[in-house]
Amino acid sequence: MEEFAKFRHQLARPIEDKIRELQRHDRLKHMIFGSQLSPEILEKLRRNADMIRNMARSRQGNDRLRQLLPHKRAMLYFTQPSTRTFLSFMAACQILGITCNEVRNPETSSEVKRESRMDSIRMFSSYFDVIVMRSKISDFAECCSYMMNELENQEMRAIPIVNAGSGSDEHPTQALLDMYTILRTFDFDETSASARSRLGRLKEKYSDLKPGPAGKTYLFCGDIGRGRTVRSLAATLAQYPGVRMFFVAPAHEVLKLDAEMKDRLDHQGVDIYEFTSLDAKLDGDPILSQADCVYMTRIQREHNSKETEEQIANIDLAPFKLTPDRVNTLKDYAPIMHPFPRDSVVGEIPTEIDSDPRAMYFRQARNGMWARAALLVHLFDAVDSLYLAYHDVFGRAQD
Ligand code: ASP
Repeated sequence: MEEFAKFRHQLARPIEDKIRELQRHDRLKHMIFGSQLSPEILEKLRRNADMIRNMARSRQGNDRLRQLLPHKRAMLYFTQPSTRTFLSFMAACQILGITCNEVRNPETSSEVKRESRMDSIRMFSSYFDVIVMRSKISDFAECCSYMMNELENQEMRAIPIVNAGSGSDEHPTQALLDMYTILRTFDFDETSASARSRLGRLKEKYSDLKPGPAGKTYLFCGDIGRGRTVRSLAATLAQYPGVRMFFVAPAHEVLKLDAEMKDRLDHQGVDIYEFTSLDAKLDGDPILSQADCVYMTRIQREHNSKETEEQIANIDLAPFKLTPDRVNTLKDYAPIMHPFPRDSVVGEIPTEIDSDPRAMYFRQARNGMWARAALLVHLFDAVDSLYLAYHDVFGRAQD
């Protein structure tokens, strides 16, 4: 895209170089890629999110949370449909006392007067302190972060950019809330006595079971090729040692694991397997019974061309749907996740699964609010204030 031509060289760099530029020491400056979420950063964000979640249980805690960032303003610039990401960012801002404003339809902004998108973003940065943005253009958020870095280098006003979904490319804050959910689930709540016995009980059946995301098998199912949540989450999980990934997708060029992502995961040492049905077996055992976590996705129809529309309409999607029988083969502790929305016509997760204790998707969505609030606290460098407020509410002894 012409508008982004000036960032051509920056866009073409290896991801490791880009990531360095998006951090300030050990803190995130902008949130653009899932692979920025290293295990160390995730641990920090997880701690923030847990504190916010606990404080939000009481009125006193909520009052203290609202005093954390009342001097900040957020722009939610969402020019692609969104329910959960938009609302959970809005709720996260409200929790922290951040004022937020939104542009959801570019036709109500000066883009109709032929203002460039980059000019619009720079204008927003004059009035707001963070821009959370969703766009169907893959490189847009990334280019905005480079523009902010350039302004900062010129000692001009620059603010954090948060990618809330870029085309079929990345959705790093979804990876953040997915990881928060995974970290909590695989903690087996080790701190409480009853949970310790839960892990003990599980170990009687699964002797190798250990807390944490490392060394586990993650099964991704659905539209792997165009699922930006899969791309971001896989890049994040790949940073933990001993991870195995199963990708289950129809054998169609746009739906299966793409070569670039495969190479990247391979390069990071992930053990990758591809299948064309949830009933597939590996080494004689059903893949579903080997998975520690199942991540379902919908077919991303909005990215269909006329040609793929027809081809995909002819694919039998039954092998990519969870059924009670398939769920029965899962491990007792394996969370069933989905970034949502689920497709109510295809039914990749039928509603009868919702009451299964492993169905995590509604809790996963609520976790988005805590995880996104944690990210805002981190980006605004307000972690010390959060700790102080937490100690005031709960007292040091309980920390
Ligand atoms: N809500 C997620 C996204 O924005 C997943 C989806 O739409 O399928 O990518």
